[in-house]
Amino acid sequence: MLTAESILKATFGYDTFKPLQREIINNVMARRDTLVIMPTGGGKSLTYQVPALMMEGLTVVVSPLIALMKDQVEQLRALGVSAVFLNSSLSSEEYQENMDSVKSGQSKLLYVAPETLLTPRIYSLLSSLKLDLLAIDEAHCISEWGHDFRPEYRQLVDVRRKFPSAVCMALTATATPRVRTDIAASLGFTEKNEFLASFNRENLFIEVTPKQDPVAQTVKFLQNFKDQSGIIYCFSRKQVDELAATLARYKYSVRPYHAGLEDGERKRNQEAFIRDDVQIIVATIAFGMGINKPNVRFVIHFDLPKSIESYYQEIGRAGRDGLPSHCLLLYSYGDASKIRYFIDQKEEPERSSSYQHLDAMTRYAEGSSCRRKPLLSYFGETYSQENCGICDNCGAEPGSQTDITIPAQKFLSCVKRSGEKFGAAHIVDILLGADNEKIQKYSHQTLSTYGIGKELTKSQWMHISRQLVERGLLNQEPAYRVLSVTAKGLEMLKAREQVFGQINEAKRVGKVSAKLRASLPAEELEYDNLLFAQLRNKRKELADGEGVPPYVIFSDKTLVQMATYFPQDKDSLMNMSGMGKVKYERYGADFLKIIKEYARENKLEEKYKTPMRNKDDAGRRYVAVGEAYNAGESLESLMARYGVTADTILNHLARFMTAGNPLRTASDLLALSKLTPDQQQKVFTAFDELGPDMLRPVHEKLNAAVNYDELKILRLCYLCEKR
Ligand code: ADP
Ligand code: ZN
Repeated sequence: MLTAESILKATFGYDTFKPLQREIINNVMARRDTLVIMPTGGGKSLTYQVPALMMEGLTVVVSPLIALMKDQVEQLRALGVSAVFLNSSLSSEEYQENMDSVKSGQSKLLYVAPETLLTPRIYSLLSSLKLDLLAIDEAHCISEWGHDFRPEYRQLVDVRRKFPSAVCMALTATATPRVRTDIAASLGFTEKNEFLASFNRENLFIEVTPKQDPVAQTVKFLQNFKDQSGIIYCFSRKQVDELAATLARYKYSVRPYHAGLEDGERKRNQEAFIRDDVQIIVATIAFGMGINKPNVRFVIHFDLPKSIESYYQEIGRAGRDGLPSHCLLLYSYGDASKIRYFIDQKEEPERSSSYQHLDAMTRYAEGSSCRRKPLLSYFGETYSQENCGICDNCGAEPGSQTDITIPAQKFLSCVKRSGEKFGAAHIVDILLGADNEKIQKYSHQTLSTYGIGKELTKSQWMHISRQLVERGLLNQEPAYRVLSVTAKGLEMLKAREQVFGQINEAKRVGKVSAKLRASLPAEELEYDNLLFAQLRNKRKELADGEGVPPYVIFSDKTLVQMATYFPQDKDSLMNMSGMGKVKYERYGADFLKIIKEYARENKLEEKYKTPMRNKDDAGRRYVAVGEAYNAGESLESLMARYGVTADTILNHLARFMTAGNPLRTASDLLALSKLTPDQQQKVFTAFDELGPDMLRPVHEKLNAAVNYDELKILRLCYLCEKR
């Protein structure tokens, strides 16, 4: 039987499992019903796809959306795995064809909608087969407490009863305990086999910034994301249309998406985004379910989301491929009031719960500690690090604290004197001596605090107000945001205690922080942009030819690695993440050709990617070559055995060594060099001085007198000596 590791490498092209994947697969292979809770991008699909390929019989995957099924099947086919789906989108011939493929045992995976699975036709098909695994994707649909309840999911337990020997997996990204228990109970799980992954998405940079001039802020943000995909969420359809039109005027490649668009147009816009024909989607929250696009590099919230749960879900659509991605929320007080206005129209008990959600959201947006803490605690997870290094608050310069005692006193007494009946915006109006209807109505121009705060701007005052709330000197009532002075605040006023804080909003760092960079090997962040663009064009051309989204051919991560390491032969290319056997056979030559030409024209050398330590390293050629060489085999004999040039053997040896294996020092290596001992010594001195990593500086230092082939040989000798 194939091992999970060999399938991971050969079929999926990955070196190592992501957290919990291996444990989940073990559990399923031991035929225990399993509940998997992982955030988007956590790698859920692989946890049933690998067992499906290891088991003898059929795996049925239940999925609620036609688009998701299609996407998964396309991705599997590109990996050389035979999978089909059955749903109402198929013509009757296609349907029969797919039925036949399952019946004959050719397809190991069958994707179905729950309502399809419950039909007599499918029941009888499955009864004629060995059903080994029943995987239920988006399993929260089974729970009325989830955000996406589907009654058909309730009946899945009947399927389980009909096919009791099939092991069952339920997978979801919804973590609330109530939904979890509900899933296990509805499916009749008898033992508790739960795998709960961390919901911390380490490749997402999280930023919240005050919304001042949102269009200008958005355009400025987009300048850092040339040619990259992203989603901008807006509150209303009208706002979506306006912003999409504005960005189009600025020559961005952009389309709108909301429920008010005609069906055909909505589908076309979504498809264009998925296929990389369009860069940006401006959307209401109607957009996202069923979008599997892994290379979404940014998510902007142009308006405030209505709860932390939806916010987390929406930002979660960024960076599924694990590459660094940026999430920006433009926050304004006014947005919160707008949402509050809508909540006011609702009935109890929905109204109170909506207020609570909004309140948590505004507290999050106004908070000054690590963003990950409130986000993760919302999902019952404690984030124990003080500083994540990958959110605005952690990356911010520790804003210089100044004495804000006077403004704090002014603010608190103004709240007190106006009777503790107003929100921050009105208090600020009083302090600034504004003349408006509300001031007139309550005769607030007669207050002693009227106009005593003209030394600060409105936004500085709002910032002070937030700090006073955060410190517990002011209390803010959730529904109408009315401020009142707390006991602690009164104490402070009476005792004339000093208060330290910030006058201005801290300058937030927009740069990718060091920590985020650490989510990738440093070198992969400095990939060659021009080569990447060429590779991406090739990918797009192949994808269009096959009528699939580009990410079905290769993920961005695979291309980034190609544009980092410049692999020159099959073995090196197979070392790129996501390069399985079938993908290599189908597309390897096309991509190798581009990389080789580019490397030649630009005099770029291959860089060795340190392979992940894994058992199956032993099966790779460079290991075999390295070991044979260490065992005493000569270069000549290795060249003959593998039918390759000395250069290729040298490459294998170099990689063997960079993977952490020592290499014997041998005279036959040095004998390959045609230089005199004197000249060789000069090269070694140059390595001493400039380091052995890059050959170009050494080449230049020696006035181009020594060619690159020589340098490669001598570098290897040099490194052997060093060890
Ligand atoms: P989920 O369904 O949990 O949102 P996916 O199954 O779509 O996540 O996986 C997210 C991405 O991670 C996909 O691009 C997938 O190919 C990739 N992936 C999954 N497992 C691994 C792994 N072991 N190593 C590298 N990438 C992986
Ligand atoms: Zn942080």
